[in-house]
Amino acid sequence: MSEYVHRAKKIVTLSMIKPDATQRNLTGDINARIEKAGLRIIAQKRLWLTKPQAEEFYAVHSERPFFEELTQYMSSGPVVAQVLEAEDAVNAYRKLMGATNPKEAEEGTLRKDFALSLTQNSVHGSDSRENALVEISFFFSRMELVG
Ligand code: UDP
Ligand code: MG
Repeated sequence: MSEYVHRAKKIVTLSMIKPDATQRNLTGDINARIEKAGLRIIAQKRLWLTKPQAEEFYAVHSERPFFEELTQYMSSGPVVAQVLEAEDAVNAYRKLMGATNPKEAEEGTLRKDFALSLTQNSVHGSDSRENALVEISFFFSRMELVG
């Protein structure tokens, strides 16, 4: 796990462009916003999660009332998993994403501009450096972090 840290020059975070956004052909728009904000996409792939994979990724929420809806939705279409690198990548990307509920998201954030609802909120970003490493290793091998 620590090898991720050694290969990346800065802090890394795990991003997902969620099915509502891939379905509406927004991956290019979102990537442009990520790069404009100073985050570097150092790894990226498009994949379709199975329901069990979505449940594993969101296991921390397994007791929450929205877990079934969330994991159904996250396995309903393709996602784009990405590793983003920046000086303060975790916080920088959370700031760019905006609040979980798009109704509460600030102007200029991805969720304000693209999200459809609280569940279909277009993007995921890790909430801590520790979780970022766990989430990155869920999707990517060390060799796939290409810089
Ligand atoms: N979510 C939901 N209903 C809720 C809270 C969250 O459907 O009441 C979904 C939403 O897609 C969110 C994801 O579950 O992005 C994970 O929730 P979390 O609280 O971790 O929000 P995030 O870290 O994505 O902002
Ligand atoms: Mg979260």
